[in-house]
Amino acid sequence: MNTHIAAFIDTNKGTKTNDTSSTAKASKHVQIDPAVKDRKRNKKIPMDESAHTFAPSLASASSHYRRGSSPVMITDALSDVRVHYHIDPKELGHGHYGVVRKCMHRESNEWYAIKSIRKSKVSKIEVLKREIEILKEVKHPNIIELVEVFEDERYLHLVTELCTGGELFDRIIAKTQSSEGHFSEHDAAILVNDILDAIRYCHDEKGIVHRDLKPENFLFLTEAEDAPVKIIDFGLSRHDDTDLGIMQTKVGTPYYVAPEVLRREYTNMCDIWSIGVITYILLCGYPPFYGDSDTQIFESVKGGKFDFPSPEWDDISDAAKDFVTQLLQKSPIDRCVLIVHGLGHSSWLHSFAMSLTIFS
Ligand code: ADP
Repeated sequence: MNTHIAAFIDTNKGTKTNDTSSTAKASKHVQIDPAVKDRKRNKKIPMDESAHTFAPSLASASSHYRRGSSPVMITDALSDVRVHYHIDPKELGHGHYGVVRKCMHRESNEWYAIKSIRKSKVSKIEVLKREIEILKEVKHPNIIELVEVFEDERYLHLVTELCTGGELFDRIIAKTQSSEGHFSEHDAAILVNDILDAIRYCHDEKGIVHRDLKPENFLFLTEAEDAPVKIIDFGLSRHDDTDLGIMQTKVGTPYYVAPEVLRREYTNMCDIWSIGVITYILLCGYPPFYGDSDTQIFESVKGGKFDFPSPEWDDISDAAKDFVTQLLQKSPIDRCVLIVHGLGHSSWLHSFAMSLTIFS
């Protein structure tokens, strides 16, 4: 068990409550708390082979390269990124498919991030093309900006704006280890307002569904407490250009996936559910749906039942709880109605977010 979380729970046990039932609840939470930085558990859902946009070390892909055939092309031309950028050898982060480093534009001396994806690891080139197309299409202050794309024989390089403030995931962990234990309602509302605005833009203006919203996929531009948040990783995103916008492929990450995605019939409302899960975690430090295995988490999600356990939720406003409850409506249609008619008037967001631009 993660020692920091153990400490968090011990603190709760020792000082905040003597209620054994809530202690039991807390212990349950500890096993699945997102602060357990278990990348294996937090991996994209291995639910459906076809859902795996990228399959690391897929035999078919590697053998293609071993045979020495000409390289698969993703863009129109091959070029050397190092002519234009100096790449810092130190890794900033490591994803499922790429290594991310800092790089400096040789002419302007400006710093950026560069994600280098080994093409032989990518099983479905079409999916990678789709991610690039989507990234090129989106322009929003809370979505990572794609600056340039380079391709050489072995790698695809995506140059994006550089975020130096770390992942939202790490800030949640830092909070669970602090005396507060979680984000304040004020800070959570400001953040959620920005996330909702970016997702409203994706849904309404671009017809794009992200499908993998989770704290690891939000980066802060700088280390400042109030730095803007940026959505990254559009690897599972797609246009909702299917019949009636209904999608069937199971994709996502266990704690954050919507119940209708598990039933393989869903719309862009799956993103709203994930934002509901993230809001819940911001406010208390642990997720609303949990289990000791992926299967158990899925059962919990499908059941759609969650609560606001004491003591963590005791001091959280009813407006915040109403807001979370609205986003975590099990029925995507109810969620949708709410988005159209309700969210813009959410008293919780209104009371904290300075410039409320969403869904109004
Ligand atoms: P993948 O799509 O291969 O899973 P990600 O895009 O999730 O890779 O990136 C992996 C990690 O690299 C992120 O979790 C983050 O820590 C770091 N990272 C990604 N993009 C940036 C960026 N623009 N600035 C700084 N760090 C980044």
